Amino acid sequence: MPDPGMVLVFDGHNDLLFRLYRRGGPDAARSFIKGDGQGHLDMPRMREGRMVGGFFAIFAPAIEHARYAAEAKALYAEDTYDIPLQPSVPCDVAQAATLNQASKLFAIERESGGRFKIVRSAAELDRCIADGIVAAIMHIEGAEAIDPDFHLLEVLHQAGLRSLGPVWSRPNIFGNGVPFRFPSTGDIGDGLTEHGIRLIKECNARRIMIDLSHLNEKGFWDVARLSDAPLVATHSNAHAISPQSRNLTDKQLAAIRETGGMVGVCYEGSLIRPDGRVGVDAPLDMLVDHIAYLVDKLGDDKVGMGSDFDGATVPKGIGSAAGLQNLVEAMRLRGFDEPTLKKICHGNWVRVLAKTWGG
Ligand code: ZN
Repeated sequence: MPDPGMVLVFDGHNDLLFRLYRRGGPDAARSFIKGDGQGHLDMPRMREGRMVGGFFAIFAPAIEHARYAAEAKALYAEDTYDIPLQPSVPCDVAQAATLNQASKLFAIERESGGRFKIVRSAAELDRCIADGIVAAIMHIEGAEAIDPDFHLLEVLHQAGLRSLGPVWSRPNIFGNGVPFRFPSTGDIGDGLTEHGIRLIKECNARRIMIDLSHLNEKGFWDVARLSDAPLVATHSNAHAISPQSRNLTDKQLAAIRETGGMVGVCYEGSLIRPDGRVGVDAPLDMLVDHIAYLVDKLGDDKVGMGSDFDGATVPKGIGSAAGLQNLVEAMRLRGFDEPTLKKICHGNWVRVLAKTWGG
């Protein structure tokens, strides 16, 4: 039985698999299950924070990822910044990283003793949450691994892929990601390519959820025009509060609302803070400001969590998955009632995924 006052949290985005990929070693899955205290996410800390699952992203890094990250760090030290886009990642390079990370997700499921399940339908998601089994959605953040004939999309879908972001913040054969720029809108660069237009149709046909986070604005509107699914951004915040290129303008929020989609609020400090500063703590109340703003624009049934655990500078007030109930309490203090907290913390994801994936 959950403790009174605790609210279950289902989350829109984490980078655990990329962290384990960089960590390496044959015991990566076990380190997550037993708890290694690294990053933000492992099973013991999820249990402590009442995190019942989420989208587990697969991310293929650029060949010189570490160098680009170091160069970006120097630029982020300024009050304003415009980080150059990383180069494209070749398909074969991305496929190797993707299969490695997907195998880690399967290994976690296999070694978890029934406590962790990759979910492929809304019914499975419901059942896991009810039974206290961690529900994982296999997600790809940037579709570099997907070939233009969609052979790998077919295979990954059969394996359990249920969510895909066409781009990360870099170009690929499908479109252009939004650069990290402050202050700026996301209206930077061209929209989807011909391959990108076909990718949206292929995802719609298989009812794979399409994630708008990291798309630039032209790409966003291309998806809005083409997709027959609710519009979803798994980890983005309100541009009106923090004018960072990754955040969503009121016009984009209106489009998401119109389709019955949703936004997962992201815990990354630079997407929370009005000054866009990177690597600086964002007080919990600032994050609640975004949640309140998004609820005002979208309604309380179209806002959820999108932590970016293991990929973000998370507010010290949360710290890791173990501290999720601190955010719940901050929302409660702001005046969110219990039914609304349940919707934002897990119910809305369940609703949108059921609508996207079908019965
Ligand atoms: Zn991301």
